[in-house]
Amino acid sequence: MTTTAATDIAATHPALSAADPELAALVGAEERLQADTLRLIPSENYVSAAVLEASGTVLQNKYSEGYPGRRYYEGQQNVDRVEALAVARAKALFGADHANVQPYSGSPANLAVYLAFAEPGDAVMGMALPMGGHLTHGWGVSATGSWFRGVQYGVRRDTGLVDLDEVRDLALKERPKVIFCGGTALPRTVDFAAFGEIAREAGAVLVADVAHVAGLIAGGAHPSPAGHVDVISTTTHKTLRGPRGAMLLSREEHARALDRAVFPGLQGGPHNQTTAAIAVALREAAQPSFRTYAHAVVANAKALAEALLARGFDLVSGGTDNHLILMDLTSRQVPGKTAAKALDRAGIVVNHNTVPYDPRKPFDPSGIRIGTPALTSRGLGTAHMPRVADWIDRGVTAAGRGDEDALAAIRAEVADLMAAFPAPGLPV
Ligand SMILES: *Cc1c(COP(=O)(O)O)cnc(C)c1O
Repeated sequence: MTTTAATDIAATHPALSAADPELAALVGAEERLQADTLRLIPSENYVSAAVLEASGTVLQNKYSEGYPGRRYYEGQQNVDRVEALAVARAKALFGADHANVQPYSGSPANLAVYLAFAEPGDAVMGMALPMGGHLTHGWGVSATGSWFRGVQYGVRRDTGLVDLDEVRDLALKERPKVIFCGGTALPRTVDFAAFGEIAREAGAVLVADVAHVAGLIAGGAHPSPAGHVDVISTTTHKTLRGPRGAMLLSREEHARALDRAVFPGLQGGPHNQTTAAIAVALREAAQPSFRTYAHAVVANAKALAEALLARGFDLVSGGTDNHLILMDLTSRQVPGKTAAKALDRAGIVVNHNTVPYDPRKPFDPSGIRIGTPALTSRGLGTAHMPRVADWIDRGVTAAGRGDEDALAAIRAEVADLMAAFPAPGLPV
């Protein structure tokens, strides 16, 4: 930690540094933070320098409401081709007939699905937020749970797994227009084929929200929902390692409904600089090296889960099939938020999270959620996972005792290791 953030930023972002030193210093500090810490938030990653560059181009300056070849503005010679490239790459990578790359993020993408297939007041079904679902799957505090009648399923208390019999019974009883499978805190593979059968029987449109695992699917390290579901919704910025954005993929039969829902139904002009960066990320995700990356993410998560279990931690569902681990800290008698804040002081970034049937309140739940996408992007491998588990173990113990010296010691060890694994896209 010899160079200062201010020096770095003046060299790498000269215009920004000159025009707005205050803001530039914050960006420099964030670069330093992302370089020095062990980032375990499973929805975060490091994009490549190429993706970063694409998202900062003059495509930013364009308005292009509509779709390639069907715009409401002139001057689309290049923008049309940028979007067409992103669409073609998305279709090829995920085996879909149709792709819409314009949703501003995952939540608006899901809102577009409701707009396409449901009317206000209709029943819609998804996994409950405290069980691992996403807000936009019909949870009450979300517009999707107040404009529609959210019917929610969960996981079994004994296994931590989705109870497909419960899902089927609920779907046949409530007849939702739309069913979402997938979620935001799910350590296990979703049975897309079984959900497909349930949705067909119930006459519902089935959406696989693969925001978390899209990169694993692209890299062949997770089963694909293609062929089992009507719509695939995904963010582009989690395991897929693209810019903050989203895509909707479907068979041809749903193309028109989805496109109309995104524009003009919900959005105005697409963010063309983001579309360009999505195209770059999709090209990267089609390379053999990305297959290696995706498999390494899963291997690291499994190795980390093993190492945590060996240290006596309780993991929801007993382990992981993907990039994500949900730790229940009840037996350690440290609340999730206390642990997460202490780990942050130790240079290990996680988020506090509810565990299924959590007796504690959502703003101070029993668990923490961790994952391996970001550390794998830096090149850490399975041999490093016992060390990561050890830091978490020592950090949680220190959190329980309020031992700030122990946290500071871990922070130095973390920064030391991370210095040997430069992150993609970071100048430091
Ligand atoms: C992250 C996520 C989203 C929402 O994405 P935002 O870009 O944060 O709006 C939607 N669904 C799932 C399952 C997610 O994990």
